[in-house]
Amino acid sequence: TLSDRLTSVLQNLRGKGRLSEADIDATCREIRVALLEADVALLVVRTFIAKIKERAKGAEVSGALNPAQQVIKIVNEELVGILGGETRRLNLAKNPPTVIMLAGLQGAGKTTLAGKLAKWLKTQGHTPMLVACDLQRPNAVTQLQVVGERAGVPVFAPEPGNGVGNPVDVARRGIEEARRAQHDIVLVDTAGRLGIDAELMQQAKDIRDAVQPEEVLFVVDAMVGQDAVNTAQAFADGVGFTGVVLTKLDGDARGGAALSVREVTGQPILFASNGEKLEDFDVFHPDRMASRILGMGDMLTLIEQAEQAFDQEKAEVAAQKMGSGQLTLEDFLEQMLAIRKMGPIANLLGMLPGAGQMKDQLAMLDEKHLDRVQAIIRGMTPAERDDPKIINASRRLRIANGSGVKVSDVNDLVNRFFDARKMMSQMAGRFGMPGGGGKNN
Ligand code: GDP
Ligand code: MG
Repeated sequence: TLSDRLTSVLQNLRGKGRLSEADIDATCREIRVALLEADVALLVVRTFIAKIKERAKGAEVSGALNPAQQVIKIVNEELVGILGGETRRLNLAKNPPTVIMLAGLQGAGKTTLAGKLAKWLKTQGHTPMLVACDLQRPNAVTQLQVVGERAGVPVFAPEPGNGVGNPVDVARRGIEEARRAQHDIVLVDTAGRLGIDAELMQQAKDIRDAVQPEEVLFVVDAMVGQDAVNTAQAFADGVGFTGVVLTKLDGDARGGAALSVREVTGQPILFASNGEKLEDFDVFHPDRMASRILGMGDMLTLIEQAEQAFDQEKAEVAAQKMGSGQLTLEDFLEQMLAIRKMGPIANLLGMLPGAGQMKDQLAMLDEKHLDRVQAIIRGMTPAERDDPKIINASRRLRIANGSGVKVSDVNDLVNRFFDARKMMSQMAGRFGMPGGGGKNN
């Protein structure tokens, strides 16, 4: 895979003091092969490699980074650049409703996206409505109605029993209805075929002409690889679009499609869909996609952030204390703050290679819970943090009131702290960590 190739290529550079021209050439050859294997279009690979060579040759090897890290940084920055730098927001109409049309092949994920986008737009304070213009497949309208119900938004659909309606007509009437009911955004779901199809393309174009959307979003399955370029080109020529949505990023596609579609059509990627559930959706983050395409986790970011946030000596002292069962709540708070400075825990762990599968567990790490823990410890006196055993009932009440939580929350934290401390020193004993077999257990 691209990941393995890049990782092994860059490992070859480890330990070398400076980037020589031969190093750069060898590296670029490998990156080129790897990108092609990952289904990035040839044209895009060429442009990319040229940029990397240019920059790597001019680059100083900074004191903070070794040559391998230097190359990771350059490759990463260029990827982010091609993927669009900052994320573009949706264009909204001056006179609502804003019409957003979804286009793409059958199975790309348009109908699912309609629900995800509607739900997300609601959280942004909008009042979206869905319009069912896929009248090709027998169940398409029902599918959109189910999705709309889940998202809690109304769906405009042709009346049943009138035979197959005209999608252009339905689109028009849907937008009339949205205007009447004062919905500020209308999402128009359209039909797709399995392949590029002239008749279908004409239908999409007719809908577009009829409803004059603010945005036409081309929805493309990230798993399709090299084919994404041809499909994107066909839709760009046949219908025209203003933005791209990548779906099925929960699969193991490296994201070569993202790079190609972006570069070949010049249109920005606005959203990313990564699962079948309505919540599996996010605005597109070029930086995250870049590190995914590199496939080795965003090690550079991790290193940089870790350097800032983590004081090595403090960590060692804390590890020592952990093993000896002498960890205090003060240490605990300090460690927690240092880790949190690096960003949300889930993101942080997500940067590590191979952490992808842990996504579900990571989602359960509740940031709000950490906020509460932080508030409680801050509400304690230094003496209490140093020796939590002294925290009696009246202290607990005072801490709870001071930090805006329930007494039971304080109890929970203190009890769990003792449990954790005990467990850590037992583990240290078993694995021979420093200070193992501490006195507090
Ligand atoms: P449409 O034909 O373009 O409307 O595509 P659908 O919305 O009907 O999606 C086709 C299939 O892909 C359905 O089974 C969806 O549940 C599934 N799907 C859509 N988006 C995603 C995604 O991001 N991840 C995964 N795993 N499945 C998806
Ligand atoms: Mg559909």
